[in-house]
Amino acid sequence: MTPLEERFEVWKDRRSCGSCTMCCYVFEVPAVATRDYEWCRHCRVGVGCGIYETRPEDCRSFYCLWRMGFGTDEDRPDRHGVVMDLQDRLVDGQLVVRVWRPRQLQERRLRSAGLMVREVIETLTRDGYAVRAESHGPRRGNDGSVS
Ligand code: SF4
Ligand code: SF4
Repeated sequence: MTPLEERFEVWKDRRSCGSCTMCCYVFEVPAVATRDYEWCRHCRVGVGCGIYETRPEDCRSFYCLWRMGFGTDEDRPDRHGVVMDLQDRLVDGQLVVRVWRPRQLQERRLRSAGLMVREVIETLTRDGYAVRAESHGPRRGNDGSVS
């Protein structure tokens, strides 16, 4: 297991999703024919997955950075407006924090999102990784950062 995989193992269950279902909106999951920024047809919004026991591997293995323990309780993606995750492999020698801003929520809590990104970057930098944030969604900043 790589040091990064060990980090994932330690972090992945620091919180539970509760009634948040935001990743079922922002991500495309090919196995269930979803599209970015559309609710998956199996999602019971604010409740959970309608096919939880048989959900695809992509869904089983997804942990956002809030669930991994970053940010405050108020930063849960459905309250906070932003979903963030960490790619599990290096890209050009860097770890990539992906920041997803759903269209209808993009104006909310952006300062708080910026603090959370900073917390993630500082933690991983202390581990010796080079880290960059990458913004996804309808409105992308020129430098890819959350502002
Ligand atoms: S966005 Fe995070 S907290 Fe919300 S359902 Fe997905 S993994 Fe759980
Ligand atoms: S299959 Fe379930 S967990 Fe996966 S995107 Fe759809 S509602 Fe979410």
